[in-house]
Amino acid sequence: QAKALGRNTYSFFTPQMNVVIQRRLAIEEQMHGALQRNEFELHYQPQLDVKNKHVTGAEALLRWYNPVLGNIPPDEFIPIAEHNGLIISIGKFVIKQALQLLKKWQNQCLNKGQHHKYTMAVNLSPSQFRDTALLSFIKDTLSELDVKAKYLELEITEGVLMNAKLNINDTLQEITKLGIKLSMDDFGTGYSSLSYLRQYPFNVLKIDRMFINGITSKKEDCNLVKATIAMSHSLGLTVVAEGVETKEQLVLLGELNCDFVQGYYFSKPLPEELLLDFSPRFL
Ligand code: C2E
Ligand code: MG
Ligand code: MG
Ligand code: MG
Repeated sequence: QAKALGRNTYSFFTPQMNVVIQRRLAIEEQMHGALQRNEFELHYQPQLDVKNKHVTGAEALLRWYNPVLGNIPPDEFIPIAEHNGLIISIGKFVIKQALQLLKKWQNQCLNKGQHHKYTMAVNLSPSQFRDTALLSFIKDTLSELDVKAKYLELEITEGVLMNAKLNINDTLQEITKLGIKLSMDDFGTGYSSLSYLRQYPFNVLKIDRMFINGITSKKEDCNLVKATIAMSHSLGLTVVAEGVETKEQLVLLGELNCDFVQGYYFSKPLPEELLLDFSPRFL
């Protein structure tokens, strides 16, 4: 029987599946020690106020360059890091780096005589959230760097809430009590978003770029975004539109009363030095 099936019968996997598994194993293998080898780096995407086009803050986005595998996108390696637990130490690195840069950025502002304070948004994945030491780590880092909690924004997706145990609400309340902002990321891509907004103390809602992409061409997307913004405001949340790529989208979002935007139209995620130099082009 096996012989009749030919050369690949030893393997339960098809060649395509093998490629996927090999890649995953390679990523997993390289991930061990990657932190120690300094292979991770944060890039920062500016966020702007829709009304006056001022920069209000940035989102920290993780980058991994590995000498063997090259650049590995976060959508590929974060789920693996979630799975093997390395996300806990990688996540601490992210929080520390992001807050260090925030301090630098705010100081630079101060030195120029502007008293505006930027915010820094950091993504958290489900198992980081389940780590009981997370909050004290964040607290310690904030005080060590002398950054006020209100300038830190934690982005979580519905995945965090869906996988949650009972005490998730305690953690969320504690975050809010500390003064840290809570942001719902990728809004509209998952399930039950509306009940989560009612149930948990979110300050910010980020509309997924999937919807922003269609707002100037699809009436349905435009209406959805319009309703989402109105609903968020009535619940006391501010709204960030993700993935703004054109001037037309920006103008329309302004008409729809969106508060903040983030996207390639203004800037891709930038390395540290470029964020510190960033100023939005004239519009
Ligand atoms: P996200 O948090 O929703 O981040 C937004 C993603 O959209 C980023 O992809 C960003 O580069 C991309 N983006 C921004 N503006 C535009 C645009 O105008 N057009 C298009 N096409 N894309 C745009 P990125 O950096 O590849 O990150 C992907 C995801 O990986 C993030 O989605 C987030 O869920 C996760 N991630 C990234 N860094 C971290 C991290 O430090 N910790 C955790 N837990 N997750 C992270
Ligand atoms: Mg995010
Ligand atoms: Mg998002
Ligand atoms: Mg996302």
